[in-house]
Amino acid sequence: MRVPLMAGNWKMHKGVGQAVALVQALKESLADVTDREILVCPPFTTLYPVAETLRGSNIELGGQNIYPKEEGAYTGEVSPTMLLDVGCRYVILGHSERRRYFKEADEFINRKVDLVLEHSLRPILCVGETLEQREAGQEVAVVAKQVRECLAGVTGEGMKEVVIAYEPLWAIGTGRTATPEQAQTMHQTIRDILKGLYGPETAQATRIIYGGSVKPGNVDDLMREPDIDGALVGGASLKAESFVRIVRFEE
Ligand code: PEP
Repeated sequence: MRVPLMAGNWKMHKGVGQAVALVQALKESLADVTDREILVCPPFTTLYPVAETLRGSNIELGGQNIYPKEEGAYTGEVSPTMLLDVGCRYVILGHSERRRYFKEADEFINRKVDLVLEHSLRPILCVGETLEQREAGQEVAVVAKQVRECLAGVTGEGMKEVVIAYEPLWAIGTGRTATPEQAQTMHQTIRDILKGLYGPETAQATRIIYGGSVKPGNVDDLMREPDIDGALVGGASLKAESFVRIVRFEE
């Protein structure tokens, strides 16, 4: 049984006061939820006060990125141990905005996945194709390459900690969601790739979550699909009311 993971990616939004107010509201509204995992990924500057506010709650904390080194002269960067130190359990890696604006390539993301697993943090590995790639019928080849290269060297044991987020770029922040059928097809394809790499048991146990304009109005239909195991939510995770409704999806 795969426990659904409902994750909010706050990106570069919210100062300390707003962040604490948001998680306080989430904490109160979601206290009774026990059958799904709830995660928020705020910006680095608010991780500590958010962790303090969430102490003892059923909401987990994640970072949005790391640099693949323990420590050192890497101005402006944050290491996996720093995320652990502040109470993070998860970290988003390879988000399309990092691939696009910071030119992150699969080989570099793979180094991050490796180091994160060494530190018992759980990577949420983002993969997804552009609109041009989909229109050219290349979406499966693109996503398959990303999955294989970002997971190179990861063992079956390591895979127990990995979550994959399928986020078609044309659906991120655009208001245009993949249909449940489009998302299911790709999730099933990713599971088949994992089966080839790690065998059926690991493939069945790995959570594959969907991201791309998930909202209260479409989450139920998406979550009804058999291979969609949760959501990575950007814009709609910034307001308590919408994120609460998303977490409380009905199947
Ligand atoms: C994201 O950034 O991971 C995302 C899916 O954003 P949005 O929900 O705003 O499309």
